[in-house]
Amino acid sequence: MKLPFKPSLMTIRRKPVKWIIIHHTSEMYLQPAAKIDNQIYQINSLNKGVLEMKQADINYHFVIDKIGEDYSAITCRPFVYLCDWDDIDPMINERSLHIALMGDYDIKQPEKRMYEVLAYKLLNPFMKMFGITPAKIKFHRDVSIEDITCPGDLLDLNVIVAQTRRFVLK
Ligand SMILES: [Zn+2]
Repeated sequence: MKLPFKPSLMTIRRKPVKWIIIHHTSEMYLQPAAKIDNQIYQINSLNKGVLEMKQADINYHFVIDKIGEDYSAITCRPFVYLCDWDDIDPMINERSLHIALMGDYDIKQPEKRMYEVLAYKLLNPFMKMFGITPAKIKFHRDVSIEDITCPGDLLDLNVIVAQTRRFVLK
């Protein structure tokens, strides 16, 4: 499935990146394939959700998806555009990168390898590039005005931070 490009519907990023917000995909994309870990490339199911919800693009900059035996980081919304999160303070959102983990981590136990891929492929490069400390990596629920569980009760921020320390760039 090819999602049409609609850059005119998105807001261009004007401020430097200061925060990284972590999500899981089950919060937005109710397609069953976006909620389970079936080891098939699942971005098509997110694209289908975008078309049904009439959004400009997937509402995350990156998604970590398990394809076959390993996890990959996939570019979704180009990060020169902002994602649209009305429940997050605009002062934070206009300085944020949004990364989502494919699946539902209220019910699925995260694998260690997923944490490693998240840290090595996305978090550490962006922390180095933008001078972001671990304190500025936030779960969606911690910056939202809504009562949500995103990125899921089973995900552990301490494990994420520990993994970023393993791959720290000096
Ligand atoms: Zn979220």
